[in-house]
Amino acid sequence: MDLYQPEYVNINGEKFRVYLTHEEIQQRIRQLGDQLSHEFKDKKPIFIGVLNGAYIFLADLMRYVTIPCEVDFLKLSSYGDEKVSSGQVKQLKEIDANLKGRHVILVEDIVDTGLSMKYLVDKVGELKPASLSVITMLHKSDATKYNVQIDYVGFKIPDLFVLGYGLDYAQEGRNLAQIYILQEKEEN
Ligand code: 5GP
Repeated sequence: MDLYQPEYVNINGEKFRVYLTHEEIQQRIRQLGDQLSHEFKDKKPIFIGVLNGAYIFLADLMRYVTIPCEVDFLKLSSYGDEKVSSGQVKQLKEIDANLKGRHVILVEDIVDTGLSMKYLVDKVGELKPASLSVITMLHKSDATKYNVQIDYVGFKIPDLFVLGYGLDYAQEGRNLAQIYILQEKEEN
């Protein structure tokens, strides 16, 4: 069986083209895993994945981390079926682990306006971790309006809607092995 990695996909009547290949993604995540393994040596970090979008990134990232570590998840409300943020954050699942005194690494799929990350950093900060770091696979730096802490970035991307590799459009496309970007109208 091969991975699901066409060059173009049509989802909900919109056309997307591949933007980051499977190889590019894996190579970058391997580098990030190495870096985290080095910087968190002897700290037994706990990764907190933000559901749903970050689950594939987190699963791959953790397998490139070669030091003892743990994982837990929380869930935030998504864009729903839209391609733009609602401007509101709602937490749908709490973190179960006790983060007091722990080295916490928050793992996001994408930072867009920064609203979700700001909410998370403020909220997790109240749980008194020994340290709090933030890693995101993608960062739309031109779209980021909130002053947020981001310690590790996989890829900076333009302010266009993306999907694949855990990211959805109206719940579809998460199983694509690559990251796809919305085609500009004139490209159609
Ligand atoms: P922010 O709060 O930074 O504006 O948005 C963060 C969340 O919005 C992400 O965790 C993700 O769920 C969603 N999001 C932002 N941009 C995109 C995008 O281009 N594609 C998809 N599928 N989701 C996005």
